[in-house]
Order: sequence, then C-alpha cells, then structure tokens
Amino acid sequence: MRALLLLIPLTAAVMLVGAAAHHPQPAHDRRPATVDAMVNDMPLALPRSSNVGEALVGARRLPRDGVLYSAVTHSPIDRHPGHVLLDNRPARLDQRLQSGDRIRVIDGTDAVEPIVEREVAIPSPGGALPDVEREVMSPGTDGMMRETVGAQSGEVLRQEMMRAPAPASKASGPVVALTFDDGPDPTFTPQVLQILANTGIKATFCVIGRDVRRFPEVLRAVAQQGHTICNHTDSHPRLDRLSPGQVEAQLAPVNQLIRDTVGAAPTFVRAPWGIVNGDTVAVAHKLGLRVLGWSVDPSDYLRSPADRLVARVVGAVKPGSIVIMHDGGEGEDRSQTVAALPIIIQQLRAQGYSFVVPPSSPAAVG
Ligand SMILES: [Zn+2]
Repeated sequence: MRALLLLIPLTAAVMLVGAAAHHPQPAHDRRPATVDAMVNDMPLALPRSSNVGEALVGARRLPRDGVLYSAVTHSPIDRHPGHVLLDNRPARLDQRLQSGDRIRVIDGTDAVEPIVEREVAIPSPGGALPDVEREVMSPGTDGMMRETVGAQSGEVLRQEMMRAPAPASKASGPVVALTFDDGPDPTFTPQVLQILANTGIKATFCVIGRDVRRFPEVLRAVAQQGHTICNHTDSHPRLDRLSPGQVEAQLAPVNQLIRDTVGAAPTFVRAPWGIVNGDTVAVAHKLGLRVLGWSVDPSDYLRSPADRLVARVVGAVKPGSIVIMHDGGEGEDRSQTVAALPIIIQQLRAQGYSFVVPPSSPAAVG
C-alpha cells in the first residue's frame, strides 16, 4: 500500500519529464550548450533548455511522498506529497532552467493522524416502554461513552464508559399518580386544582381538545400550577374504530392546541375508555406521544358517593399505581370526585404514599 502511494507521483513526474525532454539545439545558437544548476546543493550541468523535471531525473532526486498513517492499525490513509522549489519558489516540473538556478527537493513527511475525543450515546438497553403505561414508568436513560479515535480514520484508540445506560423500569417505592380526565371544565377543574394546591400535589390532566378551545383559561390555570397535561383527543371518540389518518387528526391538532395554549406540547395521550389497537399506538408514537393507561379506576363516572370512591381507590392502590378520575365531561356532575379527593390524598399519605406524575424524561424521575 505504501509502495503504491509512492509509485504514483514518481510515475507522474517521469511522464512529465519525458514529454519535455530532448530539445535539439539549433546550429546557429551561440549560447552555451549547458546550464549549470544546483539540485539540493549538488551541482549539475544540463543541456540548455532543460526543465526542472529533467534536472531531477539527472540528479536522481525526485521528491518522495510522505504517508499519513492511521492511529491504531498504522494503515496509510493519506499522502503528504513532497514538493520542489526553484529559487525558493514552488516549481513546476516543466519550468525551464537558467544557469545558476537552485532547485530544492523537499520530501513529504510521514505522520500519524491526530486523535480526538468524542462522546457517543449508548441507547438504553431494551429501553422500550410498554405500549400502554398502566403504572408509573421511568423511561430508560441512555448511557454515554467517551471514545478516543483517529481524527480521519475513526479507529478507536480508547473507550471509557462515563455513564451506564439504564433500562425503562416501573417506579419503585410508595408512589402513586393521580390523573383527571375529560377536562378542562370551568366548574370542577378549579375545585380539583384548589385541593391539589392545598395539599401540594402534582397530578396529570388528560384534556379534550374541544373543551380546551372552550375553556383555554382553565387549561392555563392547570399548567400554571405545574401539573402535567395529557392529550385526550379532540372529540373523545373510540380510537380503535378510526383509520390511522383519523387517529392522527384526533391527536396532532390537540398537541398543537395545547402547545399554543400553555406553551408546551404534551408527552402523553390517553385514549378514551382506554381503548387502543396497534394503529392507535403506532400513530401516538409517531406523534411523540406515550400512551397513558391506568391501574386503578374507582368508576367515578358512575356517580358513586364519595365514601365509595375513597374506599375503591385506597383499597386498590399499590406502589406505582395510576389512578383515573374525572374533573370534566359535558353535563357531568363531578362533585363526588371533588368530595372524595382530599380524603383519598389524606389516607394514601397516611400509608406513606407520595404523589408523582409519570416521568416524561429522566430529569423528572424523582
Ligand atoms: Zn375520557
């Protein structure tokens, strides 16, 4: 490989020289028949009209190319061409010589490529979250590797794991996520917000686009209190009965509407009645949405009395549970949910639970 690299410029040089060689001298020319030149301090007498290339051939001194080697395997990866100076200026091989010219042949140098450091993300192993997250899930985190590599070849000299990747996992410990569907509602959402503010709890609100357009100020109040907002479709249809295009039409505009209303797009979607199929999940993921399910449903939409709601929730919650309740819905009376909520919070706290929102990013994992 190295020999081949060196051969190419030599051949080129000789071809150039050949093309310019042999200039017969006219008989009437009285100028001296030779020119005296120096090639790397070696004096040389050449036929008149000789050029630089002929001088190099006469002196048996052609510039040698240097080779740039890769950092690890020392394979040739590039040439550092040698060059020729004529009276301290870059020379062409076909340049004519005059007496007293000084030619300097400078070989290319051999070198090893520089090395650089770079950071490479190591994807979370098996980091896929479940298609529908029915319990509080912590998304996996990518790891980070620092590599020292050849700047041109990319050959790896050294690898150092700076942060190991972590897989997605269920929340551990006594945490529970409260979620409220079918808002925003001008009557019940503010009451739920007040209870959450009084108790210092963050929750997740799955909102219907149609109602966000009617009550944007209610959604802004939800966001201002630091709660998580989740896309609950535009008009609350059964998503499994829609084509993928129709599902997208139910979700994408609501992402944008939420962003326009509160300044940030949601990370989660909750399907009406929790009904999804493969298309629903695929469209959600395409739109950057994780599908939020639940594991505890006290059926507050059946208008059970508050004490029944309390008993159902508190009796069912386990570490990592997601509880679904409702703070809105056209013409629905959510007063029993509002009445039950402070007692649910109080009793779960007494059992040692703390209240979380499903983490949308590693930074939110508490
Ligand atoms: Zn709903």
